[in-house]
Amino acid sequence: MESNDKKEEPKKEENQNQEKKEDQKEEKKEEKSKEEIEKARKEKKKEKKEKKKAKAEKPQPQQNPNKKEKDHHEKDVNYYTSSAKLLRPNKNQPVYPDPSKKNILITSALPYVNNVPHLGTLIGCVLSADVFARYCRLKGYNTLYICGTDEYGTATETKALEEGLTPQQVCDKYFKIHDEVYKWFDCDFDYFGRTSAPEHTPITQGLFLDLLKNGYCLKKQVEEFKCEKCDKVLSDRFIYGTCYHGDCKYEEARGDQCDKCGKLCNALELINPKCKICNNPPTKFNSFHYYINLPKIEEKVKEWINKTSEEGKWSSNAKSITQGFIKDGLIERCITRDLKWGIKLPSDDPDLQNKVFYVWFDACIGYISITAQFLGMDKYKLWWQDPDHVKLYQFMGKDNTTFHTVIFPATLIGSGENWVKLFHLSTTEYLNYEDTKFSKSKGTGVFGDMAESTGIASEVWRYYLISMRPEAADTLFKWDDFTAKNNNELLSNLGNLINRILVFTFKNFEGKIPNFNENKFHTDVDVTFLKNVTELYKKYNNLMEDTQLKDALKVFMEISSLGNQYFQVNEPWNLLKKNSENYDVEKAETVFYVLCSFVRFLGALAEPFMPSFSAKLYEILNIKYEGNETILLKVIDDFMEKNKEKEYEFLIKADLIKVGNSINKPLPLFKKISEKECEDFKKRFDGSQVKKEKEEKKEEKKEEKEEKKEKKDEKKEEKEEKKE
Ligand SMILES: [Zn+2]
Ligand SMILES: [Zn+2]
Repeated sequence: MESNDKKEEPKKEENQNQEKKEDQKEEKKEEKSKEEIEKARKEKKKEKKEKKKAKAEKPQPQQNPNKKEKDHHEKDVNYYTSSAKLLRPNKNQPVYPDPSKKNILITSALPYVNNVPHLGTLIGCVLSADVFARYCRLKGYNTLYICGTDEYGTATETKALEEGLTPQQVCDKYFKIHDEVYKWFDCDFDYFGRTSAPEHTPITQGLFLDLLKNGYCLKKQVEEFKCEKCDKVLSDRFIYGTCYHGDCKYEEARGDQCDKCGKLCNALELINPKCKICNNPPTKFNSFHYYINLPKIEEKVKEWINKTSEEGKWSSNAKSITQGFIKDGLIERCITRDLKWGIKLPSDDPDLQNKVFYVWFDACIGYISITAQFLGMDKYKLWWQDPDHVKLYQFMGKDNTTFHTVIFPATLIGSGENWVKLFHLSTTEYLNYEDTKFSKSKGTGVFGDMAESTGIASEVWRYYLISMRPEAADTLFKWDDFTAKNNNELLSNLGNLINRILVFTFKNFEGKIPNFNENKFHTDVDVTFLKNVTELYKKYNNLMEDTQLKDALKVFMEISSLGNQYFQVNEPWNLLKKNSENYDVEKAETVFYVLCSFVRFLGALAEPFMPSFSAKLYEILNIKYEGNETILLKVIDDFMEKNKEKEYEFLIKADLIKVGNSINKPLPLFKKISEKECEDFKKRFDGSQVKKEKEEKKEEKKEEKEEKKEKKDEKKEEKEEKKE
C-alpha cells in the first residue's frame, strides 16, 4: 500500500500544477523544473492547512443582536440571531443544602464514556434532568445537578485496544466529546465530572469496607469463563448466550442482562454461552471474588422500595421493572472483576490481588464522588448524608432502573450510614430513529456532535426531543415531525405571537413597555384571560413537579395560545386608529402592558425547555438575567401565596415587567424549515453518508502520512545542510 501511495502522489501534484499553468505556458507542461514542482507542493500544503483551519474554526455567532441577516431560504425574512445564553449568576459556585429551603439533588444517569452520545441518550437522561433542574432553580429551590462520565470497566479497555490508546486516553478523548455535546445542548450542570477522578477511589472503597464490616460481603470461590482462543478472562460483556429466565429463551442475551426480558443475567448460567469476540464456547476455571449479600439486605430494601415508590411517585415503568426484579427474591451479586482499568479492591488477601470493582458497583457511587469533585471531600456529605432535608431525583433510561431502585439503595442501606437515597425516579423508554435504531457504525440517526452542523438552533432540538420524550412507550425521531413541530408550533404559535406583540409595542409605544391603566382593565375578557392563564400555570407546575416534562411542554404551548386569543379579541389595531369607534390609547397601552408581561412570563416558562430561546427573548426585552429575574416562578408563587383571593392578578401586579423599559428591535425568533431542507436532512442521516465519510477518513490518513514523510524529509535535508 505504502509504495503505491508514493507512486501516486507526485502524479497528483503534477496534475494540480498543470491546471494552474494551463492558461500560461502550454509548451512548458512537459518539462517543469524541480523548483516549480516544489513550489506547487508547498502551495498545496498551504491550501490544505487553510482548509483544515477553516474546518476547525466554527462560524462566529452574531455579536450585535439587532444586526439583520439574510436567510438563504426565505429571502424576505430577517431573523433575530444572537449567541445569547442564560447564564445564571451562581454558575460554578458551590451550592449547599439550606434547611429553610427545598433542597433538590438531581442526577442524570452517567453516560458511558466510550462513545458519542446520540439523541436517545440525551433525552433519556441528561436533557430531561436539565429541564427539571432549570425548573427547580426558577422556583427558587436550592438545586444541585450532578452528572459526569462513567469511565471504568471492560468496555473502555476494549475501546482502548481498538483505538491503540490507553484507557485513560480513551476516557480523556470521549469525556471531551460528551462535555462539548452537552454544552451545545445547553445542559446546565452544577458539575460534570468523571468516575476516573481521584475522589472516586476512597468513596467507592469506603462503601465496600462498610459493607464488609457489616457482614454484607462474601468471599466466594467461583467459576469464571476464559476463552482459550482469545487468551482472555471473559467478563460478562464478552459472553452471550440463550436467556435462562422463564420462557424468554432469547438467544442473544448478554452476560450481564437480557435485552428482551430486561432481567439481569449471570453469565455462567446462560445456555450455550459463547465468546463475543470469536463466537467459540468459553471454558470455565476457578477464581475468588467478593459478592454483595443482597438476600441479607432484602427485607430492608423491599420495605424501602414499597414506601419510596409511592411517596416519590416513581414512573409506572420504573415501578413495574423494579417489582419484576424483586418478585423472585434477590441473589448474591459479584462486585469484583479481573481487570486493570477500575477501582482497586482494598484487600491484603492473596486470593484477591489484582481485582477491581465491577463497573456497576462503582458507577452509581459516581454521583457521590462527582459531588465531592465539585464541593470537596469535606463537604459532599452535606448533600448525601442529610436525608431529612434533601430529596434525590434521578433520571435515566429504563435499562438502568434496577441498579438505581434495588442494588444501589441496597449498597447504601448495607453500609449503615445515613445516606440520601432515591426519592423520585424518572425512567424513559427508547427513542428510535425513523423506524430504525440510532447506529453510529451504520450512520443512521443524528448523534450529539452532528446536531450543530444542521444549522438548527439548540432550542429547537430541545423542544422537539422533549415533545417526543418516551415517557410511556418508545417514540420515533422523524424529520417530518421535527419540521412540522418547528413550523406549526414554535413558529406559528409561539414565535408569531411574541413577534406580533413586540413589533406592535416597538412601533406604537416608542419602543417602551407601555403604561398599565387599571381603569381600562376590567372586562370579562381581561379577567378570564388572567384566570385561564393561572389555571394552566398551576397545571404546568404540577406536571413539572412530577417530571411529566412532555405534558408540561404541551401546557406551555396551550398557555401561549391563550395569548394569541387575547391579542385577537382585543383588536389592538382598532384601539389606535383615530377614526375608529374603538379608539382608546389608554386601553391599547393597558392591553400591551399585559401582553408584554405575558411574554416575559412565557420566557420564564420556556427556560427549562428552551433556555437559548428565553435568552434571546430577554435580550430583546432588555432584561438583565440576575436576582429575581432568575427565579421568576418563585416571584409569581410568592405573589399568589400573598394574594390568595386574586392570585390570578400576578400578570398585572407582580411587576414581571417594568413600565417605560426600552426594548430592542424585535425580529422573528424561529426560522422556517423548508420541505427541501427536511428531505436533505433525511438523506444526510440515513446511513449513505457513512460510506463516504469512511473514504474521506482514509484520504485524511493518507495525507497525514504524507505530511509526516515530508517533515521527515525536511529534517533530513536540514541535517544534511548543517553537515555541509
Ligand atoms: Zn430474557
Ligand atoms: Zn474468544
